[in-house]
Amino acid sequence: MLNKKTVDDLNVKGKRVLVRCDFNVPVKDGVITDDNRITASLPTIRKLMNDGAKVILCSHMGKPKGEVKPELSLAPVAERLSEKLGVEVKFAKDDNVVGENAKAAVEAMKDGDVILLENTRFRKEETKNEDNFSKELASLADIYVDDAFGSSHRAHCSTVGVTKYVAESAVGYLMEKEIEYLGNAVENPVRPFAAILGGAKVSDKINVINNLLEKVDILIIGGGMAYTFIKALGGTVGNSLLEEDKVEYAKEMIFKASQKGVKFLLPIDTVIVKEFKNDALSDIVPTGLIPDGWMGVDIGPETRSLFTEALKDAKTVVWNGPMGVFEFPNFAKGTEAIAEALAHIDGTTIIGGGDSAAAVNQLGYGDRMSHISTGGGASLEFLEGKELPGVAAVQDK
Ligand code: ADP
Ligand code: MG
Repeated sequence: MLNKKTVDDLNVKGKRVLVRCDFNVPVKDGVITDDNRITASLPTIRKLMNDGAKVILCSHMGKPKGEVKPELSLAPVAERLSEKLGVEVKFAKDDNVVGENAKAAVEAMKDGDVILLENTRFRKEETKNEDNFSKELASLADIYVDDAFGSSHRAHCSTVGVTKYVAESAVGYLMEKEIEYLGNAVENPVRPFAAILGGAKVSDKINVINNLLEKVDILIIGGGMAYTFIKALGGTVGNSLLEEDKVEYAKEMIFKASQKGVKFLLPIDTVIVKEFKNDALSDIVPTGLIPDGWMGVDIGPETRSLFTEALKDAKTVVWNGPMGVFEFPNFAKGTEAIAEALAHIDGTTIIGGGDSAAAVNQLGYGDRMSHISTGGGASLEFLEGKELPGVAAVQDK
């Protein structure tokens, strides 16, 4: 159970409440292309508005690296929020985030009003968790609420530093929900408990396996993650994604899985191409026999059956990382097979990772999952058993 203060423990009437949200949404030509993270933030915002708080929202977007990048302004988020909440969310447009506009806007707020600050990463201090910016943020508010699960694995001014300078802090509803789902999955999973790993960020993710092997009954590895393991088993992987310096680690993990009695599954066949495009000439080969000049882009048909069968009776499943290059429809079959298998599971299914969530939604299975996490990196660190700094910084109940 979460022992942190939540928004339900606060008395916010007439108080200024700074809420750290995760509005790190994809924007193309000034238009937000996926607003799931905005939707996910609404319950906390509505609760605080209804309780008569002065709600001051902040977030980062992208990686401006301490510089003002107009294309990473949060202005479009303020517009989308206004539409969704049905009230005007005033955008405090200050390049230095806590500037004259922000101060004047806060000063003018009435109970129940909502404003949004500019991208916190326009300030170089943000990612270094430097005190001066933490103090500036805190100076706007009486209470701090952290609802940015997707940023909670980072100790920055707006997620950690600011808590030192406000009287009270709490977590929001989204944070609570994420921790409940992921926490239950790792601490008290209904068994059999299966984890599925894939995707392309192999070096970021591969270290989670050591901890997962302590917890799961079944571990399935596909996508770009698989080839490092195939190589560890002596196979050839052609030009496929490979983390050469993790091959030894992969060997250790294969050994650990056998010692722990974890069912450890790798692809047995692979869809390969020479060119990275949807209509590339493709072939299907047994995994481990990928010729030079070819790369694996999806799991093959036999693997789809193998993985589907292994997942049939699972009661808790955590999935992070697509099984193939699902952005190309011709190589989305493996990812779709897993989504379909999860949709039929009588138990808890949790999706982590931005691309995995996009894949599941795009393929039409979003509604059939128990929980789609808004945090990719944060959900993995949680599964690795690490404490999330953004959660740790919040006051205990
Ligand atoms: P997530 O965002 O869910 O954490 P990642 O960012 O790690 O997942 O990986 C997603 C990407 O992995 C997708 O863009 C997909 O095209 C790519 N991918 C999956 N399988 C392969 C593969 N075999 N080779 C190259 N890229 C792959
Ligand atoms: Mg990704």
